[in-house]
Amino acid sequence: MKFFMPAKLYSEHNCVAEHSRELSSLGRKALIVTGKSSSKKNGSLDDVISAISDHGTEYILFDEVEENPSVETVMKARDAGVEGVADFVIGVGGGSAIDAAKGAALMIANSDKGWEYMYNSTGGKHLPLAAVPTTCGTGSEVTGVSVITRHDLKTKVSLKHRIFPALALSDGKYLLSAPRTLIINTAIDAFSHLIESGVNINADRSSMMLVMTGLSLWNECRPYIEGCEDIDEKAALSLMDASTFGGMAIAQTGTTIPHALSYMLTYNAGIPHGPAVGAFQANYLRFADKDLRDRLLGAAGFADGDSLEEFMKRLAPINPERKLLEMSAESVLAKPEKLAVCPYKLDRETVFRIANI
Ligand code: NAP
Ligand code: FE
Repeated sequence: MKFFMPAKLYSEHNCVAEHSRELSSLGRKALIVTGKSSSKKNGSLDDVISAISDHGTEYILFDEVEENPSVETVMKARDAGVEGVADFVIGVGGGSAIDAAKGAALMIANSDKGWEYMYNSTGGKHLPLAAVPTTCGTGSEVTGVSVITRHDLKTKVSLKHRIFPALALSDGKYLLSAPRTLIINTAIDAFSHLIESGVNINADRSSMMLVMTGLSLWNECRPYIEGCEDIDEKAALSLMDASTFGGMAIAQTGTTIPHALSYMLTYNAGIPHGPAVGAFQANYLRFADKDLRDRLLGAAGFADGDSLEEFMKRLAPINPERKLLEMSAESVLAKPEKLAVCPYKLDRETVFRIANI
């Protein structure tokens, strides 16, 4: 068994203000990396700015991160950080802002390198990083992974470097004003991390502890995800925690086939990340060991694979063209390292069936 989690996490109401000293102690001048508008509306950006300003820490704001951020955006954030002489980075927002912040933290610390460094090298040093998540899906605040869009390849590719936040501050209150679709989409991403970590060659006792706890918590949140009950602060924190458990789980095991299948769908058809990974979960589970499948589905509150499929079709339907699904399946088949993470035999026919072809 192995377990690695270098991120220190606080998940609680008002944690940004409560732990402002720790946040400020990461450096003297922060590069705050965020999306265009949501962090200004949900209060997370104001909280971060007032937390570090209270301790005399300066900052530069880079608020141009788009959904599924590109290499070009990471390099723009890098330029802002280098020019402003930032010595630490704070990612505020969903997975897109946090992943871009990870890329910037790496590239500022390696400012003599071109963008290719993100992909042609491993283990690079990076500036200290903090993450304040405002969606309940990626778990990026506790993973070393950064998924960045490559327009040259027309898909998204994870950086080779592992860039863990030193500090993750997770407060459910930022979710309270989020649109329902965002809650659904990101909660499906969290569910998918838990499933793909559970059905994974790297799964062991410690990762399974995270998976099973995360799925039970996710199941408790089902009424909020399905819209049967309004989200309050307690429910929002549970949704954030289910997502964080998913992040901690994939930090141990990695993701597998559904995530690999999704990237071309997002790039080419604009399908949001959650629905793009959720659509393949029922099929991915169908080929898994029966006992494991039953345990995972049971923990998440699904009677069987069919009821999971019905849930995904009802809450996050997608309808990609067959040609695009075929392209995605071919791209996965060309990645032996991805296929190797799946614990059952993956021939061409199985990958095509998982891809709904
Ligand atoms: P996102 O792309 O970060 O954000 C989606 C949209 O939601 C944006 O328009 C954003 O607005 C808005 N938003 C964010 N928080 C909000 C809030 N509290 N209230 C209202 N609106 C809010 O979504 P995401 O699903 O969290 O992240 C997806 C990205 O993460 C993908 O690129 C995916 O590949 C990646 N990912 C990373 C990991 C990892 O381990 N690193 C794992 C899974 C997925 P603004 O743009 O205005 O901020
Ligand atoms: Fe994901």
